[in-house]
Amino acid sequence: MGYLEESGITISDDLDDADVIVVNTCVVRKDSEERMIRRIMELRKIYGGSKKIVVAGCMVSSMPSTVKKIAPESSMISPQNIDKIVDVVSSPISKEYISGVKKIDKLTFPRLYRGVVAPVPISEGCMSDCSFCITKISRSTLRSYHPRVIVETIKDLVSRGFKEIELTSQDSAVYGFDLNDHGYRFMLPDLLNRVLEIEGDFMVRVGMMNPQWLDKIIDDLIEVYRHPKLYKFLHIPVQSGDNKVLKIMKRGYTVEEFEQYILEFRRKVPDITIATDIIVGHPGEDHHAFLNTLDMMARIRFDRVHIAQYSMRPLTEASRMPQVKEHIKKFRSKVAELLQEIIGYEINSSFIGRRAKVLMTERGFRRHTYVGRLMNYRPVVVRDALENDLGKWLYVEIDEATFFDLRGHRTV
Ligand code: SF4
Repeated sequence: MGYLEESGITISDDLDDADVIVVNTCVVRKDSEERMIRRIMELRKIYGGSKKIVVAGCMVSSMPSTVKKIAPESSMISPQNIDKIVDVVSSPISKEYISGVKKIDKLTFPRLYRGVVAPVPISEGCMSDCSFCITKISRSTLRSYHPRVIVETIKDLVSRGFKEIELTSQDSAVYGFDLNDHGYRFMLPDLLNRVLEIEGDFMVRVGMMNPQWLDKIIDDLIEVYRHPKLYKFLHIPVQSGDNKVLKIMKRGYTVEEFEQYILEFRRKVPDITIATDIIVGHPGEDHHAFLNTLDMMARIRFDRVHIAQYSMRPLTEASRMPQVKEHIKKFRSKVAELLQEIIGYEINSSFIGRRAKVLMTERGFRRHTYVGRLMNYRPVVVRDALENDLGKWLYVEIDEATFFDLRGHRTV
């Protein structure tokens, strides 16, 4: 959107208004792939004759033949070539196809930001090879962006009034593993230290960190997490609570190692929020393995869990393994979700009655509702907050909880 806007193209949210429709696709899961296909077909049916359709995103790099089949006259552009988006959108030719993997530095791309939250990519790709993952096929291997460019970008965003800087990556924990500055390794804790030195009133949220390589940085990372400008929030996907399944997934750690990391963070960073992702029904997950996952959830008591039913992705190792039946996956995901709802509700309820400082960051799902974040990134719906409170710190009394968020009202 940044490129398009910079070139003078007007971005519209109204399809009838637009001359060109860009569909940015995600195929990380089977259901998202199906939704994308449905959407492209629907747009083609309504606007196919009158408007140019450009398909972008991971569907182009990982399954271009599907796009060609469902929308043969559309143009395509892969994620690594998104810097050519203006050419593709403004070209009078349809059926343009720009693909191929090349090194790009997305950080320096023009961007369109909205609100007070600014996502800043710190790297692209990862160092793992998980058997279920299609992202690995669509995105290249690890490429960390230069720390100086990241810091300059954030300085600029802070000076423009952004209050929450979200450092994004497929795996933040491996940031810098590919950088080598005269023999000195510059890793995530080094980057965070530089970012946190920037003057101004803002908070930093570190994106997803995989456990596989965490042992290389954990001590320094915990040290940085004490900084008041860093949200005490860890998104660390465990995926399964069973060692046999973790091995099949090729995750590169054991449940015991994972628990140790959580223990250390909890011991040294009080009140930290721990979020995780779990896949149920991965090939090799029998009933016993699933019970191990439930057991782990009950032991660790995550603050937040995203539970996904395993979905078979083309070209991945897991897709060639014997599959768990659909109804079993569905059942397991219901059970795991129920357990997490109980745990999440119990944890969140313990916040009722607290007076807390909240940074107002976004609009809520409902009209005229506004959401802020506690220092540990827990979301709080502040009932009497207003639009112009966005970006401000408010004192809030928490008077209600769900398993998902907290609710409250302003206080002094
Ligand atoms: S860490 Fe694993 S799941 Fe995440 S992007 Fe890399 S290969 Fe995929």
